[in-house]
Amino acid sequence: MLWPTLVGMSESKRVLLAAPRGYCAGVDRAVVAVEKALELYGPPVYVRKEIVHNKHVVTTLEKRGAIFVDETQEVPEGATVVFSAHGVAPVVHEEAKQLSLKTIDATCPLVTKVHREAVRFAKDDYDILLIGHEGHEEVIGTSGEAPEHITLVDGPDDVANVEVRDPDKVVWLSQTTLSVDETMETVRRLREKFPALQDPPSDDICYATQNRQLAVKQMAADCDLMIVVGSRNSSNSVRLVEVALEHGTKDGHLVDYADEIDPTWLDGVRTVGVTSGASVPEILVRGVLDYLASQGFDDVTAITAAEESLLFALPMELRKDLKAAGMSDKMKHDASSLEDAGQLH
Ligand code: SF4
Repeated sequence: MLWPTLVGMSESKRVLLAAPRGYCAGVDRAVVAVEKALELYGPPVYVRKEIVHNKHVVTTLEKRGAIFVDETQEVPEGATVVFSAHGVAPVVHEEAKQLSLKTIDATCPLVTKVHREAVRFAKDDYDILLIGHEGHEEVIGTSGEAPEHITLVDGPDDVANVEVRDPDKVVWLSQTTLSVDETMETVRRLREKFPALQDPPSDDICYATQNRQLAVKQMAADCDLMIVVGSRNSSNSVRLVEVALEHGTKDGHLVDYADEIDPTWLDGVRTVGVTSGASVPEILVRGVLDYLASQGFDDVTAITAAEESLLFALPMELRKDLKAAGMSDKMKHDASSLEDAGQLH
């Protein structure tokens, strides 16, 4: 896409580009799982909920033959369905079984880890305080593992409403994509109320969420404006805007595409921070950088907070079928992957 260039305006205008940004290992795996399923079984392949919370990813997969549904009951009997990276409650597996669906579970292994923690603490009869956003798919899935034992705590202000059966047997867990700082504040308030509160066995907020927030924190104070590429229903993307504003950026916005940038946001701005949520293909960030360059922001400096190399294997049921068909089960985008096929709208 070509943008009008403002000649002679580039002096002292710069972009700080966060790293890491964009795709995490769980999103990559989920998207490749749908791509491979389409290749192997042929369209349509049904996907329960958005495979990841990104408009561009969903519309691109739709064009290739994926059908996104809200509930398992919308999938025709005997068809193939992929469960999204956010995870599902056990009842959803039951529903799929009743409809004789072929299921591919693309739940991120780091979400599965939280599910297992919930099951284990419920078995030991703990009250589990799940810090997360009400209505988020991941929270619904995790809560479904032990509904009798889990109480949702939706941020620090919700702590006042929390009641437990035995204050000496209580543990907190969390959604994987929260603000680290806000979650710690929620835990601090919970611990004031329940001094015996136990911590999760390991961090529930995942490495990708933490690293993307860390990079934004490192550059926030130097930015007049932060542009976060991501969809409005993407929890980790929304958090990145909040983190930027909390750490000194004057103005911050979430955009799905470069053409959502309002040129007036750039008025008087010298430094623009750019990052993207964990469900965002890099091509969308490139679109934003191209637009900014056309407006004189062509001096781009990377701010690297961490290196990431994690890669998850594809879901086991899919790997088995790929192998049987003599197809590659490697977690690698092929030439037609979203990264290359994405078109800016
Ligand atoms: S954001 Fe974290 S938990 Fe969610 S899919 Fe990515 S790696 Fe997994």
